[in-house]
Amino acid sequence: MASPRPRIESQELVHRTCPLCEAKCGISVEVDRSLQRIVTVRGDDGDAFSQGYLCPKAYGLKGLHEDPDRLRRPLRREGSSWREIGWEEAFELATRGLRSIRDAHGADAVATYLGNPNAHDVGSALYLPTFQRALGTRWRFSATSVDQLPKAMSSCLMFGSPGAFPIPDVDRTDFWLVLGANPLVSNGSLMTAPDMPRRLAQLRARGGRLVVVDPRHTETARIADQHLFIRPGTDAFFLFALVHVLFAEGLLALGRLAGFTRGVDEVRAMAADFSPEAVAPITGIAPESLRGLARAFARAPRAACYGRIGTCTQEFGTLASWLVDVVNTLTGNLDRVGGVLWPRPATSPADERPRRRGRIPYARWRSRVRGLPEFAGELPVAALAEDIDSAAETERIRALVTVAGNPVLSTPNGARLAKALSSLEFMVSIDIYLNETTRFADLVLPPTGPLEHANYDLVFHSLSVRNHTKWSPAVFDPPADSKHQWQILLELAAGMSGTTAKALDDLLLGHLLSATVGAPQTACPELSPDEARRKLGASPGPDRVIDLMLRAGPFGDRFRDDAPGLSLAKLKAQPHGVDLGPMEPRLPMMLATESGEIELAHPLLRADTERLRGALAERRKAPAMLLIGRRHLRSNNTWMHNLPSLAKGPERCTLLVHPDDAKRIGLSDGGRARVKSRVGSIEAPVVVTPEMMPGVVSLPHGFGHDCEGMRLEVARTRPGVNSNLLADERLLDVLSGNAVLNGIPVDVSVAG
Ligand code: SF4
Repeated sequence: MASPRPRIESQELVHRTCPLCEAKCGISVEVDRSLQRIVTVRGDDGDAFSQGYLCPKAYGLKGLHEDPDRLRRPLRREGSSWREIGWEEAFELATRGLRSIRDAHGADAVATYLGNPNAHDVGSALYLPTFQRALGTRWRFSATSVDQLPKAMSSCLMFGSPGAFPIPDVDRTDFWLVLGANPLVSNGSLMTAPDMPRRLAQLRARGGRLVVVDPRHTETARIADQHLFIRPGTDAFFLFALVHVLFAEGLLALGRLAGFTRGVDEVRAMAADFSPEAVAPITGIAPESLRGLARAFARAPRAACYGRIGTCTQEFGTLASWLVDVVNTLTGNLDRVGGVLWPRPATSPADERPRRRGRIPYARWRSRVRGLPEFAGELPVAALAEDIDSAAETERIRALVTVAGNPVLSTPNGARLAKALSSLEFMVSIDIYLNETTRFADLVLPPTGPLEHANYDLVFHSLSVRNHTKWSPAVFDPPADSKHQWQILLELAAGMSGTTAKALDDLLLGHLLSATVGAPQTACPELSPDEARRKLGASPGPDRVIDLMLRAGPFGDRFRDDAPGLSLAKLKAQPHGVDLGPMEPRLPMMLATESGEIELAHPLLRADTERLRGALAERRKAPAMLLIGRRHLRSNNTWMHNLPSLAKGPERCTLLVHPDDAKRIGLSDGGRARVKSRVGSIEAPVVVTPEMMPGVVSLPHGFGHDCEGMRLEVARTRPGVNSNLLADERLLDVLSGNAVLNGIPVDVSVAG
């Protein structure tokens, strides 16, 4: 084995968590302090969770930190050019512009769009709600409705909370059924699981089975025991047929779940029409294959069914997401070791008393043009463009704030959205890049880069396949006169509400303290809020909030300085993080439904099943071609295409076509295809491959970096095409409003 390279005097290793994707690998960043540059990025062998694994994206952090295109100062639009301005002027202009729209047209004339990187930043996770409240708008959009919204909705309907995602216990399962996901490449999504190659190898080594159901023979499918091609958008039919077989063959085994599960008989009735024979012409899966799979899953000692992006971003996304957990429940694998379980984050409430039971936060208001329902405080982003360009004059969105998002590339019909954004009266973007979306802003406010601020993975600790906790220090001091994202959000919130950032920060802490200490039902009943506040210190920002959550959490020290248990100070002394043990069963205590039980057949799901039943006949006449997306190991967010180490290599924005389809259409490998949908048309280079299911083509999303007015010079050299120019904003999962990005009907022809 090669001996480690000796480090020179000014070099230092900083251990933290990689901020680039959900897997949350521990990394060791070697820094040259004299040059303030990254020497290299390695996997942290000592990391309590990832134990040294990293993927090629991690090295992109060097490119991100040094990227000359990354914005470091606020920008103000002046005609078609930009001028750098100071923060004071930037905040003044931003709040003046937003206030003037709000005062003249009401709070709902201002909309917000939040991108996926917010989930990776503790400052966003903690302070975005304060910012949104200060704006007062209900017109909130995010990347959620082009991603996991159906799973959030099904989790809410079944378990009472939109964040109650059951996580596959991949390290202990005997049978893993994966639909619409490619964990070998993604390292998990709604499932934080670094080093999926090792985890899958261990599954196989202990005699477990991996079965993949996907319209593409993905990288994960290649190492699976079995792969079944399925027509895009038909997972709900397939899963209902699995449920049908479970009932028909007496394979139900709810075990202890039977004591707190409602709706089993309703599900039996709902599944009656979805026999394997009835759905086979729709899904493309032979009845005997489906029956064999149902039997094997039900008879496995411990099994987990998992569906991800392909099961969410489709016409029946909420039904498919729900049915994944119906299968887990009916076979007794929900909340079972080796099945699917809920993690226990160190920042979660300490007690396991039954949670607050409330009504489903659904359809309390609706979008303006199509009347799409709100869910959990958000509207579907497919309604954003039309609520700007087609709503009544008295109602339309006139101003927008984007936070770490690029909806022109990430949401349906990007061309229409780009045009709509150009018509806004005012737009502010909090973003580190001038990209396809932020180029329309009047002001761009760039926060510090991910390595210039500390972080705590609030979101992803609640999705992890093993309980653990880790604080990530900043690798570099923030540049002079820079702002962290939480500071920008607080300053804007203060400007909108006529107070100070400090007052808002103190208010947030006060709310958390009153829920956490000093009352009989809290984690620290003997401690007064004032005493806890004194112990947390006066420094503003996320640290003291995280300290409070950790100390009052299930593994915390309860503010007793001499007691064992976590505090932020103790966690900071553990640079590789702390392992908190495997996931354990948590039901029924964590159920938050009104009944306090698992709602297996919520009325909304029963109603949507009628829509699925109605599609049984119609879906047999499948359109000629369907488009799906795909994930690449070197890509996740659109801005990663500007990082040289990730952008290099063979062209990735290619159209994958099955040989039979290529022959029929006249396409050749290396040639170019034209792909048309109702809303758009693009050209892409063709790769002819049997990995595609006949009748299905695949194009990755997030490309299309050839717009005027951006500063993404590396990405511009390899623009690719924006697949979301083909995504139709009218195609939705009706129940949740999530956009259909997989299973888009298209015509494919030879380009030119
Ligand atoms: S899988 Fe790659 S990008 Fe994701 S956290 Fe790990 S190293 Fe970072």
